Amino acid sequence: MFKKVLIANRGEIAVRIARTLQEMRITAVGVYSEADRTACHVSACDEAYPLSGVTAQETYLRSDRLIEIARSHGVEAIHPGYGFLSERADFAEACQNAGLTFIGPSPEVIRAMGDKIIAKETVAAAGVPVVPGWSSTDYCFSEIQYQADKLGYPVLIKAAAGGGGKGMRVVQDANHLAEALESAQREAGAAFGDGRVFLEKYLQRPRHVEVQIFGDHHGQVIHLFERECSIQRRHQKIIEESPSPALTPELRRRLCAAAVTAAQAIQYASAGTVEFILDEAGQFYFLEVNTRLQVEHPVTEMITGLDLVYAQMKVAAGEPFPLKQEELLQRGHALECRICSEDANDNFRPQTGQIEVYVSPQGGGVRVDSGVNIGSEVSVHYDPMLAKLIVHAPTRLAAIDKAIQALRQFVILGVRTNIPFLAQVLDHPEFRAGQVHTHFLQEQHWPVDDPENIPDAALLAAALAVKPVSRFSSSTAWSEQHDTGPWAAAGPWRGL
Ligand code: ADP
Repeated sequence: MFKKVLIANRGEIAVRIARTLQEMRITAVGVYSEADRTACHVSACDEAYPLSGVTAQETYLRSDRLIEIARSHGVEAIHPGYGFLSERADFAEACQNAGLTFIGPSPEVIRAMGDKIIAKETVAAAGVPVVPGWSSTDYCFSEIQYQADKLGYPVLIKAAAGGGGKGMRVVQDANHLAEALESAQREAGAAFGDGRVFLEKYLQRPRHVEVQIFGDHHGQVIHLFERECSIQRRHQKIIEESPSPALTPELRRRLCAAAVTAAQAIQYASAGTVEFILDEAGQFYFLEVNTRLQVEHPVTEMITGLDLVYAQMKVAAGEPFPLKQEELLQRGHALECRICSEDANDNFRPQTGQIEVYVSPQGGGVRVDSGVNIGSEVSVHYDPMLAKLIVHAPTRLAAIDKAIQALRQFVILGVRTNIPFLAQVLDHPEFRAGQVHTHFLQEQHWPVDDPENIPDAALLAAALAVKPVSRFSSSTAWSEQHDTGPWAAAGPWRGL
């Protein structure tokens, strides 16, 4: 097993990876931008090295700098987390060339799956159903027009190199095709340096259901069941769960088998996700393969009891995946909420500032993967996701109630967050009934948050921060006993 691994990431995922590395007695090496000097992930690692600059381009995306740091500090492997360099085939290749193990699949697989056209063709050839569509290197407009008519409107234009919903356009009728095509190509070109697009039939009210897969270097490919991720805003997931309320045991069996077939077709070795959309008739279609650990991987960890980072490390070191397919069980129900610094009253605009109060929920079946704490600065430079709340309970309704209660206890003051909004979604009768699809958030009317309506827990936290301590007779006694830590600045004023 590796002795020293560099985590080329920041925030909650860097903290979470460091935890498993340390459990495995592997030295966790962190990196940090100038804006992240005091960030949680820096103290979570055993060693951490600075990256000069602030923006992602100047820091966490500097593959040359990361490899240089790894090489000069005796690092043997690099874990990219998600985002940043995690799906850059060139980075995986550069690691290999520098004698470092990239924790993920091979550069060839990353490259092939990074092209949605190649990915679709590859898995379709293996017999996995794909969304009806059309792609070509010939961009003759009359041909595209003809193909869109043939598919039937609405159609979806997608970027071959796409990700994060960029370069994607829904076209309702032939009159809007030319304009949508031009803007999708322009957006894809600017975002990915690759303006190639293709057409897909647009499914009206689909669910997004994905399957966690894992391959090793011994030819074993297994699945770790599904995650339902239909609660999305602008094609970005915000609540994920497993099992999916939409799957019967028979449909689950077929979906997971299709995911394994797709992974086998590309000789996948590491953690990966095969994404599908599921239509109202229960027919599923392949969307893409994500060749990394996903944000929502803890949902799978909760229902299987496995640590996916641990399994990634074992597989990268050449060991077989620790369990056989028949040993894997989907136990109970798990649900994840992404806690983001954004204002639900202002079109979910990302919020910046300093976190003044941070109280995270606790209790059986409650897990919080966080990248922030009291005093953390939330800046414009990085993703607004601060933390993830993951709960596990015997049934779906029990998991929903546990999540709502945990959200009530979750207090972040200083920046506005989507915590109240998440609780509203979980408590919505249609969500509780499992009647969701990818436009669910968009189609519902959500009451605006009343800024005056501060949850009880927030009031409690505020009270905790200013209430005098009666156990100590004077401020001297207090400050003598507690001269460091986050409450020290408050002097004699502290919690019960
Ligand atoms: P990206 O890689 O940019 O995230 P995906 O192909 O994964 O793009 O799709 C993102 C989301 O867009 C899906 O979760 C789904 O909500 C929606 N979507 C994608 N393809 C279709 C389609 N053919 N019909 C309807 N919705 C789709």
